[in-house]
Amino acid sequence: MLTEIDAVCVDFYNTLVFHREGIGRGRALIEYLEAHGFAHAPWEHQVLYDVFDQHDAKYSPHGSPGDRDAYYAYLADRVFERLEIPRSDGDARRHAAGLWRILGPDAFDVFTDVRGTLSALRAHGYPIAIVSNWQRGLRHYCTELRLSDHLNHVVASGDVGMAKPGPGIFLEACARLATRPGRVLHVGDSFAEDYRGGKAAGLQVVLLQTDPGPPPADVPMIRRLAELLPLLGVR
Ligand SMILES: [Mg+2]
Repeated sequence: MLTEIDAVCVDFYNTLVFHREGIGRGRALIEYLEAHGFAHAPWEHQVLYDVFDQHDAKYSPHGSPGDRDAYYAYLADRVFERLEIPRSDGDARRHAAGLWRILGPDAFDVFTDVRGTLSALRAHGYPIAIVSNWQRGLRHYCTELRLSDHLNHVVASGDVGMAKPGPGIFLEACARLATRPGRVLHVGDSFAEDYRGGKAAGLQVVLLQTDPGPPPADVPMIRRLAELLPLLGVR
């Protein structure tokens, strides 16, 4: 089924990580704001892209505790501003830690087989790139979720200005992996973004389907990331 693979691309959300609390960041954020009595503009996914647009530039996971606290307060202020929430002096700083826990990498857990699988793939000589529709600074999440050591590249839509299912973000990842799309295997959980998008860009694709239903016809499918290893001849 898979032929002459040089490198592997993986989706991020619901492929490597999942929401720790079982609800998305948007819902968790709105519940938090309403529990604290804040009236707010309607939620939309774009809010994440807008409030994190300086995450790559202004933040470092290796910064001092003081620098990180200042960034969390800045991020909280961006949330208040973007959701048109009237606030008083000190609100951003008071809610900085609470909002960071909801929006930052602490909101996610890594599936148990992920680090072992990525590590085995790399030990076997496959370079790995994340290809994700995600706001700016996904590489910092990967650092804080202890995934970075298993990755060669992180290609996020917010950073490169191209999103799945379009071909551009896949081709950017292939360029960074220094190989042709036809020699790259992409794995992800979305039929539209990962499977269809990856195929259209010329990659080989395996769908990660975690729900128990049957896969779409003629789609190569795995149930857990670790099932990639036998497909690629990795023990
Ligand atoms: Mg996904």
